[in-house]
Amino acid sequence: MATRHGKERVIGPLLVAGLGVELVPLVSELNTDALGTFSGEIERKLGVDETLLKKCRMGLLAGGTDLAVASEGSFGPHPVLPFAALNEERVMLSDASLGLQVIGRYATARTNYAAGNVTGFDELLEFAVRARFPSHHVMLRNAEGAWRKGISTESELRAAWEVMKSASGVVWVETDMRAMCNPTRMDAIERATQDLVERLKARCSRCAKPGVGWVRWVLGLPCSVCGSPTEWPRKAVHECPHCHNEVQLDFPQGMRAADPGNCPQCNP
Ligand SMILES: [Zn+2]
Ligand SMILES: [Zn+2]
Repeated sequence: MATRHGKERVIGPLLVAGLGVELVPLVSELNTDALGTFSGEIERKLGVDETLLKKCRMGLLAGGTDLAVASEGSFGPHPVLPFAALNEERVMLSDASLGLQVIGRYATARTNYAAGNVTGFDELLEFAVRARFPSHHVMLRNAEGAWRKGISTESELRAAWEVMKSASGVVWVETDMRAMCNPTRMDAIERATQDLVERLKARCSRCAKPGVGWVRWVLGLPCSVCGSPTEWPRKAVHECPHCHNEVQLDFPQGMRAADPGNCPQCNP
């Protein structure tokens, strides 16, 4: 695994337990940051899956192994919940001898992802504490575009503020989303790895390859009172990434009907 951010700590034990493989982190040899960073000094030119493939290739070449694993996260506005952010994590296992890739996925609104301009140290500290500082680190950018990353104590934050603030006392602050700086993201990577292990153990009923798993919901779970379709999922669609065979599973969250509070008829 090509990694610089300690992700092998959560990915390794799950792969060892689930697949019986040994995880060899290739930490110093490989600069995965060359493929793009969250803070945008190095722009991500490839899509998430292409970046995963490239990181796996780097790992296969550097490690001289048949298997490589890579992880990639993305953050942005939540597609449904207003004012919320969404974190999606993907973990790819690439098998060079079979020419096969499988991707585990996990998406969650549970993230501290935030960024903005702040004026004054008190406002900066307030931002940081809201973002679960100091267990979650923050980073500052000055007007010239230089970064101070991985800030993890109040004295470091104050020292960075003194150096990075503009003449008018403004600084750009972001949550540091690198895995080793962000336990909440590390949890999401762990769940994506669990999904990967489940997908590697499942076999497609048509082509027999591993990798089958969730791709989307079918909404419209009926209201428990009036039976109208709601915005809750009625089915989960699982798809094989190789032959695209689809399987639809009913009542994916164990509920046969939706609460009338979520019904457009009963609670418009
Ligand atoms: Zn298939
Ligand atoms: Zn209803």
